[in-house]
Amino acid sequence: MIIGVPKESFPGERRVAMVPSVVPSLTKAGFEVAVEAGAGVGAGYLDEDYAGKGAKVLASRAEVFATADVVAQVLCYGSNDLTGKDDVPLYRRGQSLVGFLRPLGSAEILKDIAATGVSSFSVELMPRITRAQSMDALSSMATVSGYKAVLLAADTLPRLCPMLTTAAGTITPARMLVIGAGVAGLQAIATARRLGAVVSAYDVRPAVKEQVQSLGGRFVELPLEAADAQDARGYATAQDETFYRRQRELLGRVVAESDVVITTAVVPGKKAPVLVTEEMVKGMAAGSVVVDLAAERGGNCELTEPGRIVVKHNVSIVGQINLASAVPYHASQMYARNLATYLIHLFKGGKPELNLDDEITRETLVTRGGDIVHARVREFFSL
Ligand code: NAD
Repeated sequence: MIIGVPKESFPGERRVAMVPSVVPSLTKAGFEVAVEAGAGVGAGYLDEDYAGKGAKVLASRAEVFATADVVAQVLCYGSNDLTGKDDVPLYRRGQSLVGFLRPLGSAEILKDIAATGVSSFSVELMPRITRAQSMDALSSMATVSGYKAVLLAADTLPRLCPMLTTAAGTITPARMLVIGAGVAGLQAIATARRLGAVVSAYDVRPAVKEQVQSLGGRFVELPLEAADAQDARGYATAQDETFYRRQRELLGRVVAESDVVITTAVVPGKKAPVLVTEEMVKGMAAGSVVVDLAAERGGNCELTEPGRIVVKHNVSIVGQINLASAVPYHASQMYARNLATYLIHLFKGGKPELNLDDEITRETLVTRGGDIVHARVREFFSL
């Protein structure tokens, strides 16, 4: 089987789905790799690096789609709602498509993809089981985003992060609050600690308290208990508006005491809950920073403008989206490793037959033979 890697086409996207160092593991497993010329340049990988590791470099995008049995992308049509549609005429019946598909995004887009007869696989639907950890691209990208969020905050903040004792006096450390201590939040805590900030964190799932503490963060305890905070897959469950209102009231004081607030709170398939209101932003000191990692999903801060950095009530609110793309070298490397493990699992021995009894295959396959076949996706869109 030939794995084709087109250049990412989403505006500003710098990642690439495969990196040269991962190609040999795929060739050893019975695959061939064909990369579009220039696909890796934005991430720091040159055509000659791919060729040197045994990949073919093809001149055009159309050639990649025409050659590939499996098209591997970061943002394919679905998550790429700006230019992804242009690829549809290039899809071939029976071909496989693997990448971020945003499976709970738009039913129309999924129907478009299904109609072409491609088998599409969504990396977002990777089950959270031990066996699939090495294929979990969502966690990889969250790790990178959490790291980058802290750097953006530090860069925007008019203060130093660490405590310094100098001849010009003592500098007090920056206080950072992380709301949502999942994969991105925990990486943000670790990064903020390395910069010397004093870090506290809060999450609805009480299970994360020890993880926060082990990274040197203080866990903020609110006198508030979420009903079934966590579902069977380890994700937070949605709470009612009464809960969110009470949560905002209680968080207000902690937010006001923070120089930086990083929010990462999302619930799969739902709009992100508003946890930082305009009132709360008004209560922050001038020059403070909010980095809203949930910007793309509607935002945890009421004043977030997705894709932009705005200053409101003297507080900078960073709503930049797709942060993983801003660290493209390692984001691509992590993604490529996840993808290689996943592809080797899906297509054992480089053969196209799928084993639908396997949980990983079944849970990530979205369209096949002209239909949307994923049970949870069908249920979500009432199909
Ligand atoms: P996520 O991106 O869905 O959400 C980010 C965080 O926001 C979560 O910790 C969530 O609890 C929190 N959150 C949601 N609503 C909130 C609210 N109202 N207030 C405060 N916080 C709120 O989650 P994630 O980062 O993908 O990970 C969730 C969990 O799954 C983690 O504990 C992680 O370790 C686990 N996980 C397991 C595997 C595996 O076993 N293979 C893989 C990845 C993640």
